[in-house]
Order: sequence, then C-alpha cells, then structure tokens
Amino acid sequence: MGVCTAAGAGCLFGLARTAEDPGLSRGTEYTGPIIDIHQHTWYLGRSDDELLRHQEIMGVTRTILLPAGRSVLRDSTHDGGSNGLDATVKGNREAYELACRHPDKFLFFANEIPDLPDTERVLRHWLKKGACGIGEQKFNAPVDSAPMRRIYNLAREFNVPVLLHFQNGMYNHDLLRFHKVLEEFEDVDFIGHAQTWWGNIDLNHDQSVMYPAGPVTPGGVTDELLTNHGNIYADHSAGSGLNALVRDPEHGRAFLQRHRSQLLFGSDCPDKLGAGPGCKGAQIIRTINELAPDREVAAGIFHHNARRLFRLA
Ligand SMILES: [Zn+2]
Ligand SMILES: [Zn+2]
Repeated sequence: MGVCTAAGAGCLFGLARTAEDPGLSRGTEYTGPIIDIHQHTWYLGRSDDELLRHQEIMGVTRTILLPAGRSVLRDSTHDGGSNGLDATVKGNREAYELACRHPDKFLFFANEIPDLPDTERVLRHWLKKGACGIGEQKFNAPVDSAPMRRIYNLAREFNVPVLLHFQNGMYNHDLLRFHKVLEEFEDVDFIGHAQTWWGNIDLNHDQSVMYPAGPVTPGGVTDELLTNHGNIYADHSAGSGLNALVRDPEHGRAFLQRHRSQLLFGSDCPDKLGAGPGCKGAQIIRTINELAPDREVAAGIFHHNARRLFRLA
C-alpha cells in the first residue's frame, strides 16, 4: 500500500498536526498559514514536484488533493474520458501516495463515479485510509438522485464533507433543489463550488451564463443557502470563485463579511507558476486580501474555517 496505512474516521493526516500562528499581527495583509482546499494531482500534466513548488510559491501551507474517479463510459461521465475532471487529473491512489510522502503538506479526498456498482466499496477503502472528504463530485447526475444520496450517507458515516461542482446543464442538477438535500442531510457538511454555484450569489442570475459580469443583487440561491444552512460551505477556487468577488467588489466585500465563517480558500489552478496573472490561486489570494473587511475575516477564509471543518489540529 503506502507508508501510511492507519485507519479510522476523521482526517488522519490533520490530526497529528500542531496549531499554527494565525498571523493576525503581521502587517496589513494576512500573512499566516493558508489551507488550499481544492487542488488536483497531475492537472494538465503538472508533475508532483511542480505542484509542490506551485503551492509553496503561492504561500500555501497545506493542500487538499481532490482525485478523479475511474475513467468509464457512462451517462454520468458524459463522454467517459474525463470522469468529471480534466482527463489528466489522477485518481485516489496517486493523491493518497503524494499525501503519504508529504504528510505535513497534503491531505486527500476520496472520489468515485457515483453510480458504479462498487462505488461505496472504493470510497470506503480510501476513507478508511484517512481521506478527509469526498469529491470533487462532478458528474451528470441530479444532486438529489439515489446514487448521490449513497455518497451523502457515506459522508455521514465517516463524518467528512462532500464537495460538489455545480454547473448548469452539466453536473449536479440542480442547485435550486439543493436546499432539500441540506435539510435531509443536516448532519453532513457540504462544500459548493464552480460556475453555477457562484453565479447564483446574484438574485438575477441567468442560469445559462457561466461567468456573469457586473453588479450583484444579494439574495440569490447561493446567498440564501449560506444564510439558511449551517452545513454548507463555499469554496472560492477557480475562475468562478474569483469572478464572484471581482465582478462587483463592493458586493464581494459584504459577501465575505456576511458569510465569513462558511467561506474557504481553494485554488484549482493547473499552472506551474504559483504567482502572477497566470495563476488563478495567486489572484484569489490577492483578491481576498483586498476585499476582506479585516484580517480576522481573511484568517477565517484562508485557515480557520478549513481547520474547523476538517478537524485539523
Ligand atoms: Zn470543479
Ligand atoms: Zn496557480
């Protein structure tokens, strides 16, 4: 197997860590530890060493690796080749082994296509090895379908969050019914992500638009879910998470304040740079620093909320 084989619920890798300085008193910008809750191994061919360097340059101290599921031809994977993620993203074993090689830097999720006959067996295997969540679930299935409910039940059993990629017409249909899932599984934590998740911060969102521009009217579906449910978190990764902040900075600032305890930093970027305009993660870090009303809000988004959600030391 690998060098670390201890079993048990909860996040195996995080439990052994020590508390870190939240960095609240070092200048006008947040300079403390940063947990990136959304990265992938071999994303567009980026090697493990290149990923390590990318995260270090970004200033990230711990990274959660989100594996792909198996590559199979099925309606739930659309074309079978992408298994819901870019075809180059590697699977459970690679994420687990990288986390084993660098237990101070990486944690890992378990993932699988939701509607295979042995989905539960596969997820259970990696959860027992210390996976600290399930996802990202990015499949052509209704968010409240029977296969997805099996995923949520497993998350309940292992007491780990589920990360969902909401993309209208493509993955996790549909966000407008998701509140029922949050009610039915009120003891399971969920993390929302991607274009349709972030577009719906706006009350006037057009569901066919992936990267909406311009002012946001508060009270959209996402805004309401975060307000009404304590078991939903939001992941600011990728172009969608960045766009939600920069399209209307004034709204972005109020949004960060309003949902300060449920927002998480993630990068989800495939570049090798880790800095500058070619790195979405670096841009998201800079934008959160610019828009967070104070350093405590920034510290929550960069560090404390993830630490609490994943029960890290
Ligand atoms: Zn995604
Ligand atoms: Zn990057």
